[in-house]
Amino acid sequence: MRLIQFINPYRKIKSTHSEGTNTRIAGAVAVCLLLLSAFPCNCESGISDPAPVQSGTANNVLLFIGDGMGFEQVKAAGMYASGESGTLSFESFPRDGSISTNDAEGRTTDSAAAATAMATGVKVRNGVIAMEIRGSGRPLETIMERYKAAGKRTGLVTTTFIAHATTAAFDAHTPRRDDYDNIVSDYLHKSRPDILFGGGKYISGDDARKAGYTVVVDRAGLMALNKKKETMVAGLFGEEHMPFVSDGPGPLPRLSEMTQVALQIMGDHPGGFILMVEGGRIDHACHANDISRAVSETLEFSNAVAEAIQWSKGRTDILILVTAAYETAAVRVLKNNGACVVPTVSCGSAGHTSLNVPVYAWGPNGDSISGTHENTHIFTVIRQASGRLLPAALP
Ligand SMILES: [Zn+2]
Repeated sequence: MRLIQFINPYRKIKSTHSEGTNTRIAGAVAVCLLLLSAFPCNCESGISDPAPVQSGTANNVLLFIGDGMGFEQVKAAGMYASGESGTLSFESFPRDGSISTNDAEGRTTDSAAAATAMATGVKVRNGVIAMEIRGSGRPLETIMERYKAAGKRTGLVTTTFIAHATTAAFDAHTPRRDDYDNIVSDYLHKSRPDILFGGGKYISGDDARKAGYTVVVDRAGLMALNKKKETMVAGLFGEEHMPFVSDGPGPLPRLSEMTQVALQIMGDHPGGFILMVEGGRIDHACHANDISRAVSETLEFSNAVAEAIQWSKGRTDILILVTAAYETAAVRVLKNNGACVVPTVSCGSAGHTSLNVPVYAWGPNGDSISGTHENTHIFTVIRQASGRLLPAALP
């Protein structure tokens, strides 16, 4: 196991101060303030105390998936945000537990198998998008498809490109996660989620328009949408994955902004909705053993959940689940360095691990989260919470 000395702009403040280099101090302070304004300490948003609601039916479901976000990534992000762990938005939820994530063959999972398990309730082999493999090879009905069939709205939001495996497993079917043409074809012509926000790679704006979507390509376009009138919107934000938070969004929206707009568009639908929001780049930062980026991605993920909590205040028909597809990098926090300083951590891997990941629940059927579950339990919790609102199965 190697000890990682991560990028830490905040420590630079101290060291440059002792050197008396004013220019460098000013630069370092500017970086710190920039990040502080994005991730205020002590969770200033005032959403840290949602009322627990444990009965009734969930007409609306919000599923947040942090790719690569294990317990230690959450702990590190809390320490950075407030100087102590346990302070992220979703850590105030009334129920929590842990999730085991291995694929159908007992191997450390990839995004395709992990997301398929949550979307369909069936474990599949790594690389497979919502098909019974190993097994019959048949397509596996997803929770999104069930919601759509019941007349509800559905949405996918991610910071990776939208055809990537986690989002694909909720609204496409293919034996190969890199079969992007078929994934996009399933999106536009079969499953047709109302909201598709993320990196635009593999999706042509023209094809999306022809399929009936309003297309936006940047933050300005997203914010200018008439949220009361729009129904089907494709936000194709750049040609790749969306930028890391620490690189700045440029003209593109942040995850929390995409979440906010998705809720504004779908939230008033009396028939209800299901929205999956993925913090997809926590995993990428962890693959690089870059804890600074992992922290900022996790905090923006927490901000996106905070948008949902804010939106859900005073409502009793919303289930919010926050979990991870798997843990990446075997991160361990070694030392809390206080607020606004990235903790010292070690990384035992540059890949996915089989460590259990956290799950947090708020709303109807949240009581079903307690102790340790398989990742397929996420599907079951949503299915049970939605009760008679969903058809038993698609024809
Ligand atoms: Zn990964």
